Amino acid sequence: MTIQKNISLKPYNTFGLDANTSHFCQVNSLLELKQALIESENIPHLIIGGGSNLLLTKDYEGLVILNKIKGIQIEKETDDHVYVKAYSGENWHELVQYCVNKNWGGIENLSLIPGTVGAAPMQNIGAYGVETENVFDHLEALNLETLEIEKFDKGACEFGYRESIFKRKLKGQYFIYSVTFCLTKRHQLHLEYGDIKTVLNEHQIKLEEATILDVSNAVISIRQSKLPDPKVLGNSGSFFKNPTIAKNTFETLKSQFPDIKGFEQAHGIKVPAGWLIEQCGWKGKRVGETGSHAQQALVLVNYGNAKGNEVYQLALAIIQSVKEKFGIVLEPEVNII
Ligand SMILES: Cc1cc2nc3c(=O)[nH]c(=O)nc-3n(C[C@H](O)[C@H](O)[C@H](O)COP(=O)(O)OP(=O)(O)OC[C@H]3O[C@@H](n4cnc5c(N)ncnc54)[C@H](O)[C@@H]3O)c2cc1C
Repeated sequence: MTIQKNISLKPYNTFGLDANTSHFCQVNSLLELKQALIESENIPHLIIGGGSNLLLTKDYEGLVILNKIKGIQIEKETDDHVYVKAYSGENWHELVQYCVNKNWGGIENLSLIPGTVGAAPMQNIGAYGVETENVFDHLEALNLETLEIEKFDKGACEFGYRESIFKRKLKGQYFIYSVTFCLTKRHQLHLEYGDIKTVLNEHQIKLEEATILDVSNAVISIRQSKLPDPKVLGNSGSFFKNPTIAKNTFETLKSQFPDIKGFEQAHGIKVPAGWLIEQCGWKGKRVGETGSHAQQALVLVNYGNAKGNEVYQLALAIIQSVKEKFGIVLEPEVNII
């Protein structure tokens, strides 16, 4: 483990933004991580996994720690479940494929989400009706101050929609080291969301005979057809969260905008942020080197030479116009640095 100075972060964020960091290192083990932390005691730290949920608005003064701590093992097994422990630097999609190939179910709907295992509980990643918390058992995290490993069970993580305690109360205080998932041997498939059923039908797969591999393949093909590939067009996936608003606010908006869609939640109605952005005229609009994607208004893109601050200004302008038109304040899903 060596700490390098003045390094470009362009290869380490899927937006492809060219911000520099004053200090940079890659860690391959817990020992290297501790060594890096000890050697850089008095400067701030930023942990990067796949860099697929980051907006780097400026150069970083501190140590960027690129997480490459890898390994997958079975922690315990029962008749019905397998508890799979993965170290946080594992690639998320490779873990999904590994589990699907072993016929361990529960994360197949989360196929092809970019990034690392460690960031999955941090953001409580979700797609096609499944979130990390649905399969989460516990995690181990290194307390960045004491350098001790602590265990967090599901309750301690305080999961919410793209949220956890690590994004809120404990922000910047822990390095997620490993995550243990409780996966199924007898599966309950989630086919209700998006076009999963349609794709299975197209492939002449009977719903009652579908396997977790079929579901994973369906999700992969839907995602490939809908989302811009960051290797081709820099982006961080959905830039904003879908807002949840009070039921009466939704009813009032519905009378003004009859096409507005809403999905009932425990604490209100969730409204698709992409629709709100589109109604404000942003979909497909390019502003300098950045813009809102033509097929997915919720995805902000870098056309090649965007600066992080340019993307940030666009995000602020979108927030402002959605607020003016609908009275709803959009919240970024992406971590803004
Ligand atoms: C094309 C595309 C599609 C996407 N689709 C989805 C989707 O369907 N659903 C979804 O939920 N997300 C989606 N995302 C967002 C992103 O893939 C996830 O948020 C992912 O979990 C980020 O992982 P990462 O390793 O890249 O995190 P990074 O971007 O590297 O980091 C994100 C945040 O987590 C922190 N962090 C990372 N690793 C650790 C760790 N080990 N310990 C403590 N903190 C850590 C970082 O400091 C940062 O604050 C998409 C992104 C892209 C580009």
